[in-house]
Amino acid sequence: MTTRSERRQNLRLPALPEQAQDAAAPWSELLRRRVYLAALAFGIPVLLMVWALQFGQSKPDLYILYAHPLLMIMCIWAVGWLLRGRPLRVAEQVVFICNVFAVLAQSLMTALTPGAAVLDLSSSTYWMLVALSILAFLMFGTRRAGVLAAINYLLCVAFPWAALLLRGEGSLSANTSLLRVQLTCGAILVLLFGLAWYRARFLQERSERLTLYHLAHTDPLTGLPNRRALYPAVDDLLVAIPQGTSGSVILLDLDHFKRINDTYGHNIGDDVLIYTAALLRSALRDGDTVGRWGGEEFLITLPDTDTIGATKVAERVRRLMQNTPQPPAGQVTASLGVATCEPGDDLRVLTARADAAMYEAKQLGRNRVVVAQRSALAEPGTLSPPTLTLWGEEVG
Ligand code: GH3
Ligand code: MG
Ligand code: MG
Repeated sequence: MTTRSERRQNLRLPALPEQAQDAAAPWSELLRRRVYLAALAFGIPVLLMVWALQFGQSKPDLYILYAHPLLMIMCIWAVGWLLRGRPLRVAEQVVFICNVFAVLAQSLMTALTPGAAVLDLSSSTYWMLVALSILAFLMFGTRRAGVLAAINYLLCVAFPWAALLLRGEGSLSANTSLLRVQLTCGAILVLLFGLAWYRARFLQERSERLTLYHLAHTDPLTGLPNRRALYPAVDDLLVAIPQGTSGSVILLDLDHFKRINDTYGHNIGDDVLIYTAALLRSALRDGDTVGRWGGEEFLITLPDTDTIGATKVAERVRRLMQNTPQPPAGQVTASLGVATCEPGDDLRVLTARADAAMYEAKQLGRNRVVVAQRSALAEPGTLSPPTLTLWGEEVG
């Protein structure tokens, strides 16, 4: 038999709030797909134009002549791949690898190029290197991307200088322009690395903060919002009182829960609480909130729901509990108190009314729904008649 703490660890926490999911997947896949599509679609005419311009030249650039058509094919393939909704990762890897080859090929060709053209050829290499490094920072962790960018950069710096030195044209003073382009590119890559590092740190801290927030607002046993998390949900009802669209709360207390613990042990008692939490969640609309108010008590908030609507929900929940046996404990029933927001209510007053109604349900024999009396404050000048409504059946 699993222990209490093991079962708690096995529990699935409710979905993280939107911000937390955002932090977990900082660059959502859809956004990335769109950015790549835009960049690739933009790249095709640019590559085509630069390629076409070579035909007017007396000495066409061999790299552009042969590599650009291949890069265009890669872009067209990647656009089609992404548009068909195929895995983003594959497209990223293919584009990355093709670009690494393109950058290295371009760099290597500087070795075959006469002195004056070295700068021309290698300056476009450095632009590509910056784009490639951005892609690396998006695809890999900061450290790995940093290492890849550094290796590519060093190769791109080494090839042209090696070529120049071999030809005896490697003096610094004669190649200040090349040096300037290389240093500028290096500075941009360092800046990129700094930004990527900062982004990773920022996201990690945000994710830790959200995890802490999530833990502080979640009941570890049932995975439901805990009492702290329920306060804002009740507040949301209260702030809508002036607009007349506030809503109602239901306080639900399991009947004779102590007996279950005493008869079957605390582990089975815990299981009943977990199962009840799942039942309650399944019985409610998306906009409703159910949380663990304490011990074997659950609070449900029903926005924009009047007393009649809330009573129907409470009765539906009561029947669901009654008709869903929870082996080995068997039938587990609950007593429910319904209270609708009224002018002048605050959290304490509203929940106290629901509590009083729930207590009344216990007094009347349990497994029933009682609607709280409207307070005299509700309609100034009139004393509302007591509207104690009862449903349910006596049990054990
Ligand atoms: P009533 O029908 O009047 O509500 O009776 P009850 O037995 O449900 O209420 P009582 O307040 O006498 O007992 C509540 C029990 O719930 C006592 C407490 O030990 C148990 N309980 C509270 N929290 C937990 C929990 O997390 N796990 C388990 N297993 N039991 C719990
Ligand atoms: Mg209780
Ligand atoms: Mg109880």
